[in-house]
Amino acid sequence: MSEKAAERLRDGYFGPYGGRFVPETLMAALAQLEREYRSAMADEGFQAELDRCLREIAGRPSPMYFAKRLTEHWGGAKIYLKREDMNHTGAHKINNTLGQGLLTLRMGKKRVIAETGAGQHGVATAMAAAVFGLTCDVYMGTEDIRRQALNVFRMELMGARVVPVTTGQRTLKDACNEALRDWMASVEHTHYILGSVVGPAPFPEMVREFQCCIGREARRQMLEAEGRLPDVIIACVGGGSNAAGIFYPMIADQQVRMIGVEAGGRSMGLGDHAASLVAGRPGVLHGTKSYILQDEDGQTAPVHSVSAGLDYPGVGPEHAYWKDTGRVTYTTCSDEQAIDATCLLARIEGIIPALESAHAVHEAARLAPSMKPDQIILINLSGRGDKDCTEIAEILKRRGER
Ligand SMILES: *Cc1c(COP(=O)(O)O)cnc(C)c1O
Repeated sequence: MSEKAAERLRDGYFGPYGGRFVPETLMAALAQLEREYRSAMADEGFQAELDRCLREIAGRPSPMYFAKRLTEHWGGAKIYLKREDMNHTGAHKINNTLGQGLLTLRMGKKRVIAETGAGQHGVATAMAAAVFGLTCDVYMGTEDIRRQALNVFRMELMGARVVPVTTGQRTLKDACNEALRDWMASVEHTHYILGSVVGPAPFPEMVREFQCCIGREARRQMLEAEGRLPDVIIACVGGGSNAAGIFYPMIADQQVRMIGVEAGGRSMGLGDHAASLVAGRPGVLHGTKSYILQDEDGQTAPVHSVSAGLDYPGVGPEHAYWKDTGRVTYTTCSDEQAIDATCLLARIEGIIPALESAHAVHEAARLAPSMKPDQIILINLSGRGDKDCTEIAEILKRRGER
């Protein structure tokens, strides 16, 4: 890396992407957060406490599972699943909320806020707040509150307050706006636990680091099981945190192909999907420069996905960098294909994946048959599908399959 590139990375840039596009009131808070984060990462005591939390609360390490029946069904590459669906609260989100929860204690703050779409990040934040004795407010669009009633109740049961957001499309982007607005007024005593590798620096790097336990474990588990690294790693991309977490620890291993799968939604017409990297243009959203879905006037476009967790018009700046440099390939999976992949995994392996994760399963279905039996695909199964069952049942009914 050139000195200039290293310098930019230190500033919170990944090539031309990233940065800190926020009002002056947040600059000091972000600088403080960055200082605390860097000192925590260098502190063995903090690392030991984080490891303990990941083990005893999240249940890590998550298994890496050889999907024998799925492998036989597709008749090509060997399929392995990294089982983030086995984590406490049902997804990879907990890796990040435990890390940022500990950081909140270290900063001496007593309150946390979060934004949530599907409610998975809200639930993981509410859980961390309960464990660490923090007050917790979660911003959630009223459209998502309607779609994800169970997760709203789980958050409330764990002592969090769910704040309804009625602006815009009433989904994730609007919840992010409100959380940022709250933080500007409350930054003295409140930490904003951002849920993905998006937002102003240091969030993209910090959230990626907290999610890297996925890829570090997967790397070790794969070497134990197969004596080598996988040929392909596939992960779904909303903001990009589960993907960054599994990619990053093997990003320097050039022989490992990496594929990120975005929400292809109903169609590739603007407003019908959430494929920011595949169909967006560089712009600024929520304090960071990255690929954004926008109309001709540069207005952030409405987005759609069957999976609320992928329903976001931006994406992490590091993914933008990986796209431009060609290190990672990005593609899409439609709503219908995600539903089919969910049903397939449920029937063949007895695993009901989150609709988000099913996007990655679909891409594996496309690739595996043309690969050789000694080649390996590793799928990051970012979460479990319990939260999606009502939605899936409705869709299958509409299709006449139920
Ligand atoms: C939130 C969520 C995602 C999308 O977020 P990323 O930051 O892209 O990982 C994917 N899968 C599940 C199960 C989620 O809960």
